Amino acid sequence: MSTKYRTIFGPIPSRRFGTSLGIDLSPGKKQCNYDCLYCELAASKPVETIENPPSVELVTKELKEALKEHPETEVITITANGEPTLYPYLEELIEEIERLKGEKKSLILSNASTIHLPQIQKALLKLDMVKLSLDCATPECFRKLDRPLKSVDLYKIFEGIRSFKRTYKGSLILEILMVPGINTTDEEIEALNTLLPTLGADRIDIGTVDRPPAYPIEPLEFKELYVIAKKFDSSLPIHIASRRKSGGAKESYTEEEIISTLAKRPLTLDEIEALFDKNSLKRFNALLKEGKIETKELGGLLFYGTGFSGQKVKNS
Ligand code: SF4
Repeated sequence: MSTKYRTIFGPIPSRRFGTSLGIDLSPGKKQCNYDCLYCELAASKPVETIENPPSVELVTKELKEALKEHPETEVITITANGEPTLYPYLEELIEEIERLKGEKKSLILSNASTIHLPQIQKALLKLDMVKLSLDCATPECFRKLDRPLKSVDLYKIFEGIRSFKRTYKGSLILEILMVPGINTTDEEIEALNTLLPTLGADRIDIGTVDRPPAYPIEPLEFKELYVIAKKFDSSLPIHIASRRKSGGAKESYTEEEIISTLAKRPLTLDEIEALFDKNSLKRFNALLKEGKIETKELGGLLFYGTGFSGQKVKNS
């Protein structure tokens, strides 16, 4: 990874989004309006805004140089040591990125706290992909897990996502980071299940902590995430976004089991490879060749399933 830039890092290979060059809008220190239990940055007091932000000129200059240096870049990702939508010149910067990016895609990784604000929506509408974190459907869970500033209103976030989606033409991806005992309870999953179909996301990634978190919380194994994923409404475009694929033995699936599994919940190849043993993978490939399994792109990822033509998956 290059260290010659103050605001640019990477490129980083990402299966979910492609080879990504990152823009860090808070390069000095963590500045976020949340203090999530699972944050990979140090625990810190939430703040309203990014202090001493890098100038648009600096970010643009560094981005131009980094793009020349890394023509393999597929996506330019706006992020921060904290929350990038707290950056005061966001729209101006996004306009510069859109001018510079050529064929590459643009993406922001936000915690969703500001999505109800008209000026933030106006800026984000220009991007190809918007990924918003949304860990909880109830204020109790939200306060416990994401520990936001008091001024952040979860219900405004829900409404903000809905109104943004009504005009947004790009891919809207939601991410839920699962923390055992907090948003994995039956009550919270039920509340999420009621909420998520109303938000219209193109893809919903569910994941777990990958790196040491700010507070002592336990990661979940892939299989545990898979069990949770199955509790969600099968029409939701859920994808398990986890690097923890090694836990638990892979299982054997008959042809019928493969078809019924994929009929209930479409899976990406990543997920299939994490769940199926070698012989089941062979059976899966044969079924694919025979046309008994279909593919469909959702939020930039290819899903394998059945009955897509019969509206098995929403928001595609
Ligand atoms: S929103 Fe992101 S940066 Fe902010 S505390 Fe949570 S995980 Fe950390």
